[in-house]
Amino acid sequence: MVEFKTASEVEAMRAAGQVVAQALKAAKERAAVGVSLAELDEAAATVIAEAGAKPAFLHYHPGFAPTPFPAVICASVNDVIVHGIPGGYRLRDGDVLGIDCGAYLDGWAGDSAITLIVGTPRPRDVELIEVAERALAAGIAAAVPGNRMGDIGHAIATTAEGYGLPPDFGGHGIGRRMHEDPAVPNRGRSGRGMVLRPGLTLAIEPMLVIGGDGRYYPAADGWALHSVSGQRAAHVEHTIAITDTLPRILTTL
Ligand code: MG
Ligand code: MG
Repeated sequence: MVEFKTASEVEAMRAAGQVVAQALKAAKERAAVGVSLAELDEAAATVIAEAGAKPAFLHYHPGFAPTPFPAVICASVNDVIVHGIPGGYRLRDGDVLGIDCGAYLDGWAGDSAITLIVGTPRPRDVELIEVAERALAAGIAAAVPGNRMGDIGHAIATTAEGYGLPPDFGGHGIGRRMHEDPAVPNRGRSGRGMVLRPGLTLAIEPMLVIGGDGRYYPAADGWALHSVSGQRAAHVEHTIAITDTLPRILTTL
């Protein structure tokens, strides 16, 4: 069932979204060559705890995973597309690092992801992240009243042309729960699907793989999704609210 939020509920989600943005900022600032992914997780966890919020990913246990998620952030390095568990791996020069974070504040969820390069960037990776960010912006720009769900996916996929888009994973409705209806696919046909209306709150999250092959396989831990091609991936996400006019991004600082 799709729930539409009132103006005051969107404000509450904005507050949750800000905590997520601050947690991502703390993890990003901590990211450097030689730093472990667990240290980034700790940085995000501290921000969330100090804000009086609750991590949304910790102990989250969706049907596809063999075990509950053991951390506050997902940290996905290089050929890991999404859902990497932040463990003892220490970042290396040139790594592409995706950080995804979710939190609940006063019963409302925020969900956002960034991808960055640690140390010396490779030009191909810079382009990957730029295109992913453009795809996210295009998807958000399509989230206006009167458009349909397919317009969001269409905007993402056309912007990300030439890159692999993993099937099965995409964005989602968000509100009192991190994952709500409706699904927000990263592909779509314009003019098709649910009509978008003010009060609809969505997490939009393109994930792109260099080289055009979006197929993935799960790591031994059952969580991290690696690209089959071995190519690097980027994942970026914002929680947004559809308004009477332009979409409002709830997970910026
Ligand atoms: Mg997320
Ligand atoms: Mg999400």
